[in-house]
Amino acid sequence: MKIFNTLTRKKDEFVPIEEGKVSMYVCGPTVYNLIHIGNARPMIVFDTVRRYFEYKGYEVNYVSNFTDVDDKIIAKAVEEGVSSDVISKRYIEECKKDMAGMNVKPATKHPLATEEIGGMLDMIQTLIEKGHAYEVNGTVYFRTNSFKEYGKLSKKNLDDLQAGHRSIKVAGEDEKEDPMDFVLWKPKKEGEPYWESDWSDGRPGWHIECSVMSKKYLGESIDIHAGGEDLIFPHHENEIAQSEACNDVTFANYWMHNAFLNIDNKKMSKSLGNFFTVRDIAEKYDLQVLRFFMLSAHYRSPLNFSADLMEASKNGLERILTAFDSLRRKKDATEAGEMTADEQKMVADTDVFREKFEAAMEDDFNTADAISVLFELVKYVNVVTANGQTKAFYQALEDKLQALCDILGIITEQEADMLDAEIEDLIAQRTQAKKEKNFARADEIRNELLARGIELKDTREGVVWKCI
Ligand code: AMP
Ligand code: ZN
Repeated sequence: MKIFNTLTRKKDEFVPIEEGKVSMYVCGPTVYNLIHIGNARPMIVFDTVRRYFEYKGYEVNYVSNFTDVDDKIIAKAVEEGVSSDVISKRYIEECKKDMAGMNVKPATKHPLATEEIGGMLDMIQTLIEKGHAYEVNGTVYFRTNSFKEYGKLSKKNLDDLQAGHRSIKVAGEDEKEDPMDFVLWKPKKEGEPYWESDWSDGRPGWHIECSVMSKKYLGESIDIHAGGEDLIFPHHENEIAQSEACNDVTFANYWMHNAFLNIDNKKMSKSLGNFFTVRDIAEKYDLQVLRFFMLSAHYRSPLNFSADLMEASKNGLERILTAFDSLRRKKDATEAGEMTADEQKMVADTDVFREKFEAAMEDDFNTADAISVLFELVKYVNVVTANGQTKAFYQALEDKLQALCDILGIITEQEADMLDAEIEDLIAQRTQAKKEKNFARADEIRNELLARGIELKDTREGVVWKCI
């Protein structure tokens, strides 16, 4: 299996630290708002990487944090007149709902920065003792030039960085030994959440969180560290500096970075205001469509969000789900029986699709090619199936398709669920219309449902529906 490694800038053969196991850390969101679909890209991409490893039989220890202490969270808390805790808890819950909707598996562990302060204090202390960090007026800085390999991930040269920084030195930074030094711990400002430490009552810098949580839950050396490409510098560069200076071992063997989700060829981001939340998308589409859209491009290619591409993804996904429906309908209409020799041969012939699918995934998780192969298999299944074949044959083909869909995280039982939610939604709209004495709209909804084979009955307990 080949993985493009940002550290080496080439596709490296994957060799796990421990045979049969993969340890993976994916930098998670800062929780002060609903996540946007740019944030969803790493979630979906690395969930798929995880699923592929699991399909290959690896045991994956997947850790992804929530940054729940940060300036933006504090600002939002002040705006609403509540504590930071209320904000972060609320948006962690909302984020988990979005993840479930996109069929992103919960991590083995989702650590919270605020619950790991003890480990951060320890790591900062060790860095000070080893001469890699220093304290000035309650702030602790990492001494960047004490780590000789600084810049190895982002391929930045420390001298160039220093020269660049000298000209843009900002007020209040004079206390640093070097403009490239970054904060490990900073004193609180009035009204901010804080923890006690030997240096000041304060809170950790962002980078130290991930170094500590990765070490605690995965160990000093891990297989894969991942996130969006905006994290390469400074976040991941600084994580490497902290962890390797502290632990004296390689922090992560493979660094994976997804490209941006863009809109009009600009990075989708909260600060630019050019974003759609996952919730916005859920109003119009099943989130499976969003997942399918994200996987339709290679994760290292920029992906431009557009209504057309979402429609194309919707149609593509429907083509796959229709194949499942058709197989299941045929299967249900047939008696159990042994597969014929011809059928066995046709099932065996699907191996070539599985092999091609795997080859695409083994080549740095090329989900775009993998999806093309899935379409080829769908086409093959549609061609070789007809009414009156054996139940075992339909089942075997369904299993073959299902195995590939599982890797991509596509839920194939979706149709029924999607329909259920839709029906409930229409019923609620009808009830509301009746309340507002908008009987024309109420009748329209009843007829729309009837046309789709759903009959409504008004009972004393409320509206019940049945398929006709
Ligand atoms: P943040 O909450 O901004 O720290 O982002 C959480 C994760 O989402 C990080 O891995 C970011 O790199 C990633 N991310 C943010 N915006 C985008 C985008 N437009 N496209 C792809 N990834 C993004
Ligand atoms: Zn991180």
